[in-house]
Amino acid sequence: MVSMDILVIGAGPTGLTAAVALTSVGLKCRIVERKNSPSELSRAVGIMPATIDALRELGAAAPFLAEAMPLRKMHILRDERTLVYIDNSGNEFRDRVPLGLPQNRTEGILRDILAERGVEVEYGVSVTNITTTPDKAAVNFSDNTSASFDWVIAADGIQSAVRQQLKIQYPGIDLPNKWSIADVDLRGSFDPEEIALDLYGGEGEFTLVLPIERRRARIASSTEDALATLRLPIEIADIRRTAAFKISIRQAETYRKHRVLLAGDAAHCHSPVGGKGMNLGMADAIAAASAIANGAVDSYSTSRHEAGESVVKKTELARKLISSSNPLAKSALWLSAHCIASVPPVHRAFMRQWTAV
Ligand SMILES: Cc1cc2nc3c(=O)[nH]c(=O)nc-3n(C[C@H](O)[C@H](O)[C@H](O)COP(=O)(O)OP(=O)(O)OC[C@H]3O[C@@H](n4cnc5c(N)ncnc54)[C@H](O)[C@@H]3O)c2cc1C
Repeated sequence: MVSMDILVIGAGPTGLTAAVALTSVGLKCRIVERKNSPSELSRAVGIMPATIDALRELGAAAPFLAEAMPLRKMHILRDERTLVYIDNSGNEFRDRVPLGLPQNRTEGILRDILAERGVEVEYGVSVTNITTTPDKAAVNFSDNTSASFDWVIAADGIQSAVRQQLKIQYPGIDLPNKWSIADVDLRGSFDPEEIALDLYGGEGEFTLVLPIERRRARIASSTEDALATLRLPIEIADIRRTAAFKISIRQAETYRKHRVLLAGDAAHCHSPVGGKGMNLGMADAIAAASAIANGAVDSYSTSRHEAGESVVKKTELARKLISSSNPLAKSALWLSAHCIASVPPVHRAFMRQWTAV
């Protein structure tokens, strides 16, 4: 294989996956991260089977399967009463369900794999300036060094300075309301395979409880305070973290400028409904590494923009449906939930759609 100088910017799930994917095809890279050390906090908590399939191709799936929680059951409640209960333990989706794992552990596993392959993340080093021509990308770093690269994968997140410096537009909207999360340790009875979704109130409020370890769960809410509005019967032993956040729905107009490929949140963002954002970014990362390795970068932007657009559209539809106060939309949601639970072809179609990326 031809030797190339490759830089990955950002050691979130996208950047780490890009570096792992590059090493899988025999390409070394540098990977720099602005933060001084790995984050102990988690945003994404769900890994889809399609992502596991892709990681398997990179020889990187086993530690995820060993550690993550298979989320086989889904309990949907309406005003605290069971609306539908979906159990995938005894059907074809038993081992094709989303897996619960905190994002810091996803990043930790990827970092360990990289280290085994001889690549260490350079923490505390950020990219301060980048320019690119059809032949090269020139990069300045915060430690006052500079270097030129054949390819750069920019996985520097939603505020991507690379995207801004290269003047790539990121059109879309910012929603006004805040949603919130809380990560909690639990005691008492708790099914670590069950996602519970409580739909309540007239304004489309909801609370989701999703296991991320045997006795740890993520609570997510469409309100500003996930704990204050929690009505599901779980016993909280300890609160590890709470956060409120606003949602933006945006997508970069192009994922490539000359020698720089955008991937992950640098290229797209949307609501966490459906748990797809990180998975989409990891898929971008693998596609970017493969495009560089195979000299097929021309189609990277078009194909990943299409994939991103599709996920953004479906996620938006789901967000609007789940958080709508419109009685018609609510009826459509109840009806869909019932059909998923009781009509096998609808159930299969839903599972395939949900767990793909
Ligand atoms: C509350 C919440 C819940 C979510 N839940 C899910 C879920 O369940 N499933 C799912 O798939 N997705 C989920 N998401 C989305 C998911 O968290 C993101 O899509 C994912 O973190 C994006 O990864 P990334 O690597 O592209 O960007 P980031 O994780 O933001 O990483 C970018 C990295 O680049 C670094 N960086 C930035 N600028 C520079 C620079 N100039 N030089 C060097 N480094 C730089 C940053 O420090 C950062 O570490 C959720 C999001 C939120 C807000």
